[in-house]
Amino acid sequence: MSLNSFEYVIIGAGFAGAATAYHLARSGAREILILEQEEVPGVHSSGRNAAMVRQVVSDPALAALTREGAAFLRSLPADWPVPVSFEQNGSLLLGSGEGWKKLVQDAELAGQMGMAVECWSRERASDFVPALKGADFEGAVWCATDGVVDINALLTGYLKAAQSLGAQVRYGCAVRGIDVRGDRAIWVVTSAGVINAETLVNAAGPWAGTIAKLAGAVQAPLRPCRRHLFVTAPMSWVGRKWPFVWDVAHEFYFRPESGGLLLCPCDQEEMAPGDPPTDESITELLYDKIQRYLPALSDVAIKNSWAGFRTLSADGRFVIGWDPKVKGFFWVAGLGGHGVTTSSSAGALAAKLILEPVGTGEEEFSPGRFVK
Ligand SMILES: Cc1cc2nc3c(=O)[nH]c(=O)nc-3n(C[C@H](O)[C@H](O)[C@H](O)COP(=O)(O)OP(=O)(O)OC[C@H]3O[C@@H](n4cnc5c(N)ncnc54)[C@H](O)[C@@H]3O)c2cc1C
Repeated sequence: MSLNSFEYVIIGAGFAGAATAYHLARSGAREILILEQEEVPGVHSSGRNAAMVRQVVSDPALAALTREGAAFLRSLPADWPVPVSFEQNGSLLLGSGEGWKKLVQDAELAGQMGMAVECWSRERASDFVPALKGADFEGAVWCATDGVVDINALLTGYLKAAQSLGAQVRYGCAVRGIDVRGDRAIWVVTSAGVINAETLVNAAGPWAGTIAKLAGAVQAPLRPCRRHLFVTAPMSWVGRKWPFVWDVAHEFYFRPESGGLLLCPCDQEEMAPGDPPTDESITELLYDKIQRYLPALSDVAIKNSWAGFRTLSADGRFVIGWDPKVKGFFWVAGLGGHGVTTSSSAGALAAKLILEPVGTGEEEFSPGRFVK
């Protein structure tokens, strides 16, 4: 390895890039370099999310990753370099009408996959979380092994663990150009010079489409979508051990945070990648939803809010696999709203596909699915 030549160059030190580097290194890969345009990790989606580990989802392929990802977080490897708190207080997913029927099906799928889930009546859920008194829902799916993880410690852990196995991270190093020459010789033009890579991993989160364009790779239909989170001041009646509560019919969620609540109205607006501005009208959307569906929370006062990007693919599935157009270009992108939960499983899948490049291009998450 010369100073500026690496076998694996990963663009992005968010959960996608950090977990891929960790699993590559743990599988024995060497000469790994992560390039991060910011001066510190976690400036974008990976540091701006709700930190919830949610396993019950509709897509069986995604459910396999949420289950495996959650299992990793509940029981981190013994040599994990940083303490990471995981508060396993469970989750309640609320449903009404057709949405409730769908949730029950999702719970059945989760049960078949070995997750401990139960369907609860409205009364039982409201007894458990009194803030649900008077709320508009038919029933709830309880998943005891869900929880909330310390995202900063987790991200630091992936990076430190990868570094202890030889991976390098360069911060303040933005990728500006990608020059693909012949058979797996990729020249990455950065703000700090040119770097040669045999394999280039696109883990650029909301910028994954931009990176693909620079390389001439497949244009996977990825949409960076802004979402807001709100935090209240501490309130004596909030139970610190409450689960996170997600009303999937009316699209909002809340969970305990620093003695108060973290709330989200599940807004979704496509925007160009960057530092998404907050929008006052979303506060109104939040209060509108609270008043309609969660009247017990009508008096909460918001203390703080921010926004981040969920990067969604056209079919909602992750994009993990070799690019069908550019040799040596690998994708770990489009993690949507599940990139924390699935950080380890998505990184492990990426590392496996990178190290055993025998794929047909027809794997569940392959970018090849977007080529007609
Ligand atoms: C409001 C909100 C709530 C969420 N809640 C949850 C949740 O509760 N549970 C859950 O599992 N998931 C949640 N998510 C989703 C989760 O945050 C994402 O799926 C995950 O963080 C995506 O990680 P990433 O590494 O792909 O992207 P990012 O964290 O954005 O990392 C990409 C990195 O690439 C870098 N980069 C980009 N372009 C370049 C370049 N040219 N050169 C160098 N570096 C570059 C960026 O600076 C960035 O650091 C939530 C997301 C949001 C916005």
